[in-house]
Amino acid sequence: MTTTWGPGAAWPELHDAQRAVLAALIAGGSQPRADIARALALSRTSLTRITRELIELGFVTVGETSRRPTRGRPVELIDLVPASAHFVGVKLTGDALYAVVTDLASQVVASKETDLAERDAASVVALISRTAHELLNGLDRPSAIGVCLAGDVEVVDGDQCIVDSAFLGWEGPVPLARLIAEASGLPATVSNDVNALTAAHHWFGAGVGTRSLVVVGVGAGIGTGIVIENRLVTGAHGRQGKIGHIFVPARGTRRCALGHTGCANALVTMPGIAENAGRTLKEYPAVLAAARAGDPDALLAFEEASMALGAIVAHFINVLDPEKVVVTGEGIDMVELAPARLRAALADRLDPRASREIPVDVQPFAFDQYAWGAAITAIRRQFGATV
Ligand SMILES: [Zn+2]
Repeated sequence: MTTTWGPGAAWPELHDAQRAVLAALIAGGSQPRADIARALALSRTSLTRITRELIELGFVTVGETSRRPTRGRPVELIDLVPASAHFVGVKLTGDALYAVVTDLASQVVASKETDLAERDAASVVALISRTAHELLNGLDRPSAIGVCLAGDVEVVDGDQCIVDSAFLGWEGPVPLARLIAEASGLPATVSNDVNALTAAHHWFGAGVGTRSLVVVGVGAGIGTGIVIENRLVTGAHGRQGKIGHIFVPARGTRRCALGHTGCANALVTMPGIAENAGRTLKEYPAVLAAARAGDPDALLAFEEASMALGAIVAHFINVLDPEKVVVTGEGIDMVELAPARLRAALADRLDPRASREIPVDVQPFAFDQYAWGAAITAIRRQFGATV
Protein backbone atom coordinates (compact mmCIF):
# COMPACT_ATOMS: atom_id res chain seq x y z
CA MET A 1 0.00 0.00 0.00
CA THR A 2 1.40 3.41 -0.87
CA THR A 3 0.35 6.42 1.10
CA THR A 4 1.56 9.95 0.92
CA TRP A 5 1.42 11.41 4.38
CA GLY A 6 1.13 15.15 4.35
CA PRO A 7 3.81 17.48 5.62
CA GLY A 8 4.74 17.39 9.29
CA ALA A 9 6.24 14.76 11.48
CA ALA A 10 4.56 12.02 13.50
CA TRP A 11 3.06 12.86 16.90
CA PRO A 12 6.06 13.76 19.10
CA GLU A 13 6.86 12.58 22.60
CA LEU A 14 5.50 15.36 24.80
CA HIS A 15 6.44 15.87 28.42
CA ASP A 16 3.74 16.25 31.06
CA ALA A 17 3.68 20.05 31.16
CA GLN A 18 3.53 20.29 27.35
CA ARG A 19 0.64 17.84 27.34
CA ALA A 20 -1.17 19.77 30.05
CA VAL A 21 -0.91 23.10 28.19
CA LEU A 22 -1.94 21.55 24.87
CA ALA A 23 -4.86 19.69 26.48
CA ALA A 24 -6.03 22.92 28.14
CA LEU A 25 -6.08 24.66 24.76
CA ILE A 26 -7.85 21.74 23.05
CA ALA A 27 -10.60 21.55 25.65
CA GLY A 28 -10.79 25.24 26.56
CA GLY A 29 -9.99 27.13 23.35
CA SER A 30 -7.74 30.18 23.00
CA GLN A 31 -6.63 31.58 26.33
CA PRO A 32 -4.42 34.31 27.75
CA ARG A 33 -1.06 33.13 29.10
CA ALA A 34 -1.93 34.22 32.62
CA ASP A 35 -5.12 32.11 32.67
CA ILE A 36 -3.29 28.98 31.53
CA ALA A 37 -0.46 29.54 34.01
CA ARG A 38 -2.96 29.96 36.86
CA ALA A 39 -5.11 26.96 35.88
CA LEU A 40 -2.09 24.65 35.60
CA ALA A 41 -0.09 26.15 38.46
CA LEU A 42 2.83 26.91 36.14
CA SER A 43 5.27 29.76 36.59
CA ARG A 44 5.32 32.48 33.95
CA THR A 45 8.83 31.41 32.93
CA SER A 46 7.82 27.74 32.54
CA LEU A 47 4.78 28.64 30.49
CA THR A 48 6.83 30.89 28.21
CA ARG A 49 9.26 28.02 27.60
CA ILE A 50 6.50 25.45 27.03
CA THR A 51 4.64 27.79 24.68
CA ARG A 52 7.84 28.29 22.66
CA GLU A 53 8.32 24.49 22.44
CA LEU A 54 4.71 23.96 21.32
CA ILE A 55 5.07 26.73 18.71
CA GLU A 56 8.21 25.00 17.36
CA LEU A 57 6.24 21.74 17.14
CA GLY A 58 3.54 23.57 15.18
CA PHE A 59 0.74 22.92 17.70
CA VAL A 60 0.13 26.50 18.86
CA THR A 61 0.55 30.12 17.82
CA VAL A 62 0.51 33.34 19.74
CA GLY A 63 -2.66 34.85 18.43
CA GLU A 64 -4.37 38.17 18.30
CA THR A 65 -4.40 40.36 21.30
CA SER A 66 -7.70 41.08 22.92
CA ARG A 67 -8.67 43.70 25.46
CA ARG A 68 -10.11 42.70 28.76
CA PRO A 69 -13.29 44.55 29.55
CA THR A 70 -12.19 45.46 33.07
CA ARG A 71 -8.69 46.67 32.30
CA GLY A 72 -7.67 48.39 29.09
CA ARG A 73 -4.47 46.40 28.68
CA PRO A 74 -4.26 44.16 25.59
CA VAL A 75 -3.73 40.47 26.35
CA GLU A 76 -1.90 37.98 24.18
CA LEU A 77 -3.88 34.82 23.49
CA ILE A 78 -2.35 31.40 22.96
CA ASP A 79 -4.16 29.65 20.09
CA LEU A 80 -4.31 26.04 19.05
CA VAL A 81 -3.40 25.25 15.43
CA PRO A 82 -6.22 22.76 14.69
CA ALA A 83 -4.74 21.48 11.42
CA SER A 84 -1.45 20.55 13.13
CA ALA A 85 -2.62 16.95 13.72
CA HIS A 86 -5.29 14.58 12.41
CA PHE A 87 -7.12 11.61 13.88
CA VAL A 88 -9.29 8.84 12.50
CA GLY A 89 -12.45 7.76 14.29
CA VAL A 90 -14.32 4.58 13.35
CA LYS A 91 -17.70 3.25 14.46
CA LEU A 92 -17.93 -0.43 13.69
CA THR A 93 -21.30 -2.19 13.38
CA GLY A 94 -22.10 -5.68 12.12
CA ASP A 95 -22.85 -4.26 8.65
CA ALA A 96 -20.65 -1.27 8.07
CA LEU A 97 -17.73 0.86 9.04
CA TYR A 98 -18.29 4.60 9.54
CA ALA A 99 -15.08 6.60 9.54
CA VAL A 100 -14.24 10.26 10.05
CA VAL A 101 -11.05 12.29 10.23
CA THR A 102 -10.88 15.17 12.67
CA ASP A 103 -8.29 17.82 13.32
CA LEU A 104 -6.78 18.49 16.75
CA ALA A 105 -9.80 20.66 17.67
CA SER A 106 -12.17 17.74 16.90
CA GLN A 107 -13.61 19.28 13.71
CA VAL A 108 -14.53 16.62 11.15
CA VAL A 109 -12.63 17.24 7.90
CA ALA A 110 -13.49 14.04 5.98
CA SER A 111 -15.73 11.00 6.32
CA LYS A 112 -16.47 7.69 4.63
CA GLU A 113 -18.94 4.83 5.00
CA THR A 114 -18.04 1.32 3.82
CA ASP A 115 -20.11 -1.88 3.89
CA LEU A 116 -18.52 -4.73 5.79
CA ALA A 117 -18.13 -7.43 3.13
CA GLU A 118 -16.21 -9.77 5.47
CA ARG A 119 -16.65 -9.76 9.25
CA ASP A 120 -13.61 -11.78 10.33
CA ALA A 121 -11.09 -9.84 12.41
CA ALA A 122 -8.30 -9.88 9.80
CA SER A 123 -10.58 -8.44 7.09
CA VAL A 124 -12.00 -5.78 9.43
CA VAL A 125 -8.50 -4.75 10.55
CA ALA A 126 -7.33 -4.50 6.93
CA LEU A 127 -10.39 -2.42 6.00
CA ILE A 128 -9.89 -0.02 8.93
CA SER A 129 -6.22 0.41 8.06
CA ARG A 130 -6.96 0.98 4.36
CA THR A 131 -9.73 3.48 5.13
CA ALA A 132 -7.54 5.37 7.61
CA HIS A 133 -4.73 5.72 5.09
CA GLU A 134 -7.14 6.84 2.40
CA LEU A 135 -8.76 9.49 4.59
CA LEU A 136 -5.47 10.77 6.03
CA ASN A 137 -3.73 11.00 2.68
CA GLY A 138 -2.23 14.47 2.27
CA LEU A 139 -3.18 15.67 5.77
CA ASP A 140 -0.68 17.05 8.23
CA ARG A 141 0.58 14.83 11.07
CA PRO A 142 -1.62 11.70 10.98
CA SER A 143 -1.54 10.78 14.65
CA ALA A 144 -3.80 7.98 15.86
CA ILE A 145 -6.87 5.86 15.17
CA GLY A 146 -9.81 5.37 17.55
CA VAL A 147 -12.43 2.66 17.06
CA CYS A 148 -15.69 2.22 18.95
CA LEU A 149 -18.31 -0.51 18.87
CA ALA A 150 -21.18 -1.89 20.91
CA GLY A 151 -19.23 -4.33 23.05
CA ASP A 152 -16.89 -4.64 25.97
CA VAL A 153 -13.20 -3.83 25.81
CA GLU A 154 -10.96 -5.58 28.29
CA VAL A 155 -7.24 -5.08 28.71
CA VAL A 156 -5.59 -8.52 28.45
CA ASP A 157 -1.79 -8.65 28.84
CA GLY A 158 -1.61 -4.93 28.07
CA ASP A 159 -3.69 -5.19 24.89
CA GLN A 160 -7.14 -3.62 24.49
CA CYS A 161 -9.22 -6.64 23.47
CA ILE A 162 -12.76 -6.93 22.19
CA VAL A 163 -14.32 -9.52 24.48
CA ASP A 164 -17.97 -9.21 23.55
CA SER A 165 -18.75 -8.74 19.89
CA ALA A 166 -21.58 -11.13 19.14
CA PHE A 167 -22.65 -9.01 16.18
CA LEU A 168 -19.26 -9.58 14.51
CA GLY A 169 -19.11 -13.28 15.39
CA TRP A 170 -15.58 -13.06 16.77
CA GLU A 171 -14.48 -15.72 19.23
CA GLY A 172 -12.36 -15.03 22.26
CA PRO A 173 -10.56 -11.79 23.03
CA VAL A 174 -9.41 -10.02 19.85
CA PRO A 175 -6.53 -7.55 20.46
CA LEU A 176 -8.07 -5.08 18.01
CA ALA A 177 -6.03 -2.00 18.98
CA ARG A 178 -2.71 -3.80 18.51
CA LEU A 179 -3.80 -5.41 15.23
CA ILE A 180 -4.89 -2.04 13.82
CA ALA A 181 -1.64 -0.40 14.98
CA GLU A 182 0.42 -3.14 13.32
CA ALA A 183 -1.55 -2.94 10.08
CA SER A 184 -1.73 0.85 9.83
CA GLY A 185 1.53 1.98 11.42
CA LEU A 186 -0.43 4.37 13.66
CA PRO A 187 -1.22 4.02 17.37
CA ALA A 188 -4.78 2.86 17.96
CA THR A 189 -7.30 2.73 20.77
CA VAL A 190 -10.57 0.80 21.04
CA SER A 191 -13.59 1.57 23.20
CA ASN A 192 -17.18 0.77 23.93
CA ASP A 193 -19.36 3.25 21.99
CA VAL A 194 -21.04 4.82 25.04
CA ASN A 195 -17.56 5.43 26.45
CA ALA A 196 -16.55 7.07 23.17
CA LEU A 197 -19.59 9.37 23.42
CA THR A 198 -18.67 10.12 27.03
CA ALA A 199 -15.09 10.98 26.08
CA ALA A 200 -16.45 13.28 23.36
CA HIS A 201 -18.89 15.05 25.69
CA HIS A 202 -16.20 15.44 28.35
CA TRP A 203 -13.70 17.23 26.10
CA PHE A 204 -15.84 18.81 23.40
CA GLY A 205 -19.54 18.48 24.19
CA ALA A 206 -21.98 19.08 27.00
CA GLY A 207 -19.49 18.05 29.70
CA VAL A 208 -16.70 20.51 28.87
CA GLY A 209 -15.16 21.92 32.02
CA THR A 210 -16.47 19.20 34.34
CA ARG A 211 -14.18 16.91 36.32
CA SER A 212 -16.97 14.41 36.99
CA LEU A 213 -19.68 13.50 34.52
CA VAL A 214 -22.21 10.76 33.85
CA VAL A 215 -23.47 10.12 30.31
CA VAL A 216 -26.56 7.93 29.99
CA GLY A 217 -27.05 6.55 26.47
CA VAL A 218 -30.49 5.22 25.55
CA GLY A 219 -31.30 3.37 22.34
CA ALA A 220 -31.70 -0.32 21.56
CA GLY A 221 -30.11 -0.81 24.98
CA ILE A 222 -29.07 1.44 27.82
CA GLY A 223 -25.50 2.12 28.89
CA THR A 224 -23.54 4.70 30.81
CA GLY A 225 -20.15 6.33 30.72
CA ILE A 226 -18.66 7.72 33.91
CA VAL A 227 -15.91 10.32 34.34
CA ILE A 228 -14.41 10.77 37.79
CA GLU A 229 -11.56 13.21 38.48
CA ASN A 230 -11.22 13.80 34.73
CA ARG A 231 -10.66 10.09 34.04
CA LEU A 232 -13.10 7.87 32.24
CA VAL A 233 -13.91 4.88 34.42
CA THR A 234 -13.14 1.64 32.58
CA GLY A 235 -13.66 -0.81 35.42
CA ALA A 236 -11.44 -3.76 36.33
CA HIS A 237 -12.72 -5.80 33.36
CA GLY A 238 -14.02 -3.16 30.92
CA ARG A 239 -17.61 -3.95 31.90
CA GLN A 240 -18.61 -0.87 33.90
CA GLY A 241 -21.78 1.16 33.51
CA LYS A 242 -24.20 -1.72 33.02
CA ILE A 243 -27.45 -0.43 34.44
CA GLY A 244 -29.80 -2.36 32.17
CA HIS A 245 -31.21 -4.54 34.92
CA ILE A 246 -31.48 -1.95 37.67
CA PHE A 247 -34.92 -2.13 39.28
CA VAL A 248 -37.00 0.92 38.44
CA PRO A 249 -40.37 2.12 39.75
CA ALA A 250 -42.47 1.93 36.61
CA ARG A 251 -44.77 -0.63 35.04
CA GLY A 252 -44.77 -2.45 31.76
CA THR A 253 -45.52 -5.89 30.39
CA ARG A 254 -42.31 -6.41 28.45
CA ARG A 255 -39.83 -8.87 29.89
CA CYS A 256 -36.09 -8.30 29.38
CA ALA A 257 -33.73 -11.16 28.45
CA LEU A 258 -33.39 -12.00 32.15
CA GLY A 259 -37.14 -12.14 32.66
CA HIS A 260 -37.62 -8.84 34.53
CA THR A 261 -40.56 -6.56 33.89
CA GLY A 262 -39.39 -3.77 36.18
CA CYS A 263 -35.88 -3.10 34.87
CA ALA A 264 -34.32 -0.37 32.74
CA ASN A 265 -34.04 -2.69 29.71
CA ALA A 266 -37.72 -3.60 29.90
CA LEU A 267 -38.91 0.00 30.30
CA VAL A 268 -36.50 2.67 29.04
CA THR A 269 -35.02 1.18 25.85
CA MET A 270 -36.62 1.51 22.40
CA PRO A 271 -37.64 -2.18 22.28
CA GLY A 272 -38.99 -1.83 25.82
CA ILE A 273 -41.16 1.17 24.92
CA ALA A 274 -42.39 -0.42 21.67
CA GLU A 275 -43.32 -3.71 23.33
CA ASN A 276 -44.94 -2.03 26.32
CA ALA A 277 -47.15 -0.23 23.80
CA GLY A 278 -48.11 -3.61 22.31
CA ARG A 279 -45.85 -3.39 19.25
CA THR A 280 -42.41 -4.66 18.15
CA LEU A 281 -39.08 -2.79 18.03
CA LYS A 282 -39.48 -2.27 14.29
CA GLU A 283 -42.68 -0.38 15.02
CA TYR A 284 -40.99 2.09 17.41
CA PRO A 285 -41.45 4.98 14.92
CA ALA A 286 -45.18 4.17 14.73
CA VAL A 287 -45.44 4.04 18.54
CA LEU A 288 -43.68 7.41 18.71
CA ALA A 289 -46.04 8.92 16.14
CA ALA A 290 -49.05 7.49 18.00
CA ALA A 291 -47.82 8.93 21.32
CA ARG A 292 -47.33 12.35 19.72
CA ALA A 293 -50.88 12.11 18.38
CA GLY A 294 -52.15 11.42 21.91
CA ASP A 295 -52.77 7.65 21.76
CA PRO A 296 -53.08 6.72 25.46
CA ASP A 297 -51.36 3.28 25.26
CA ALA A 298 -48.40 4.63 23.34
CA LEU A 299 -48.14 7.67 25.56
CA LEU A 300 -48.25 5.51 28.69
CA ALA A 301 -45.22 3.52 27.50
CA PHE A 302 -43.26 6.77 27.10
CA GLU A 303 -44.49 8.10 30.45
CA GLU A 304 -43.35 4.95 32.24
CA ALA A 305 -40.00 5.13 30.39
CA SER A 306 -39.56 8.74 31.43
CA MET A 307 -40.28 7.89 35.06
CA ALA A 308 -37.81 4.99 34.97
CA LEU A 309 -35.15 7.20 33.37
CA GLY A 310 -35.63 9.82 36.10
CA ALA A 311 -35.08 7.16 38.75
CA ILE A 312 -31.91 5.94 37.02
CA VAL A 313 -30.48 9.46 36.81
CA ALA A 314 -31.31 9.96 40.50
CA HIS A 315 -29.42 6.77 41.37
CA PHE A 316 -26.30 8.09 39.63
CA ILE A 317 -26.55 11.44 41.36
CA ASN A 318 -26.99 9.73 44.74
CA VAL A 319 -24.03 7.38 44.21
CA LEU A 320 -21.51 9.58 42.40
CA ASP A 321 -22.47 13.21 43.10
CA PRO A 322 -21.28 14.22 39.60
CA GLU A 323 -21.06 17.80 38.33
CA LYS A 324 -23.42 16.98 35.47
CA VAL A 325 -25.51 14.21 33.92
CA VAL A 326 -25.92 14.08 30.14
CA VAL A 327 -28.79 12.03 28.69
CA THR A 328 -28.43 11.19 25.02
CA GLY A 329 -28.96 8.48 22.39
CA GLU A 330 -31.42 7.68 19.64
CA GLY A 331 -34.12 6.64 22.13
CA ILE A 332 -34.65 9.75 24.30
CA ASP A 333 -38.06 10.75 22.93
CA MET A 334 -39.60 10.06 26.35
CA VAL A 335 -37.96 13.24 27.64
CA GLU A 336 -39.84 15.36 25.11
CA LEU A 337 -43.11 13.41 25.50
CA ALA A 338 -43.24 13.20 29.28
CA PRO A 339 -40.80 15.69 30.86
CA ALA A 340 -42.88 16.04 34.04
CA ARG A 341 -42.60 12.28 34.75
CA LEU A 342 -38.83 12.48 34.52
CA ARG A 343 -38.65 15.47 36.86
CA ALA A 344 -41.07 13.86 39.33
CA ALA A 345 -39.12 10.58 39.46
CA LEU A 346 -35.87 12.46 39.86
CA ALA A 347 -37.26 14.48 42.77
CA ASP A 348 -38.81 11.38 44.33
CA ARG A 349 -35.66 9.25 44.18
CA LEU A 350 -32.96 11.79 45.00
CA ASP A 351 -31.52 11.37 48.47
CA PRO A 352 -32.68 14.31 50.60
CA ARG A 353 -29.05 15.34 51.04
CA ALA A 354 -28.10 14.94 47.37
CA SER A 355 -27.42 18.17 45.52
CA ARG A 356 -30.49 19.59 43.75
CA GLU A 357 -28.18 21.72 41.62
CA ILE A 358 -26.74 19.00 39.38
CA PRO A 359 -27.80 19.77 35.81
CA VAL A 360 -29.42 17.00 33.79
CA ASP A 361 -28.64 17.93 30.22
CA VAL A 362 -30.63 16.22 27.47
CA GLN A 363 -28.53 16.23 24.31
CA PRO A 364 -29.77 15.49 20.80
CA PHE A 365 -27.99 12.58 19.19
CA ALA A 366 -27.01 11.65 15.66
CA PHE A 367 -25.43 8.35 14.62
CA ASP A 368 -22.31 10.05 13.23
CA GLN A 369 -21.41 11.14 16.78
CA TYR A 370 -20.06 7.63 17.39
CA ALA A 371 -17.29 7.91 14.80
CA TRP A 372 -16.59 11.48 15.98
CA GLY A 373 -16.41 10.20 19.56
CA ALA A 374 -14.00 7.47 18.46
CA ALA A 375 -11.73 10.13 16.91
CA ILE A 376 -11.79 11.97 20.23
CA THR A 377 -10.71 8.80 22.05
CA ALA A 378 -7.74 8.82 19.64
CA ILE A 379 -6.98 12.46 20.53
CA ARG A 380 -7.26 11.69 24.26
CA ARG A 381 -4.98 8.69 23.80
CA GLN A 382 -2.15 11.06 22.81
CA PHE A 383 -2.55 12.68 26.22
CA GLY A 384 -2.27 9.47 28.17
CA ALA A 385 -5.99 8.86 28.65
CA THR A 386 -7.02 5.25 28.16
CA VAL A 387 -10.17 6.32 26.30
ZN1 LIG B 1 -33.76 -6.92 33.25
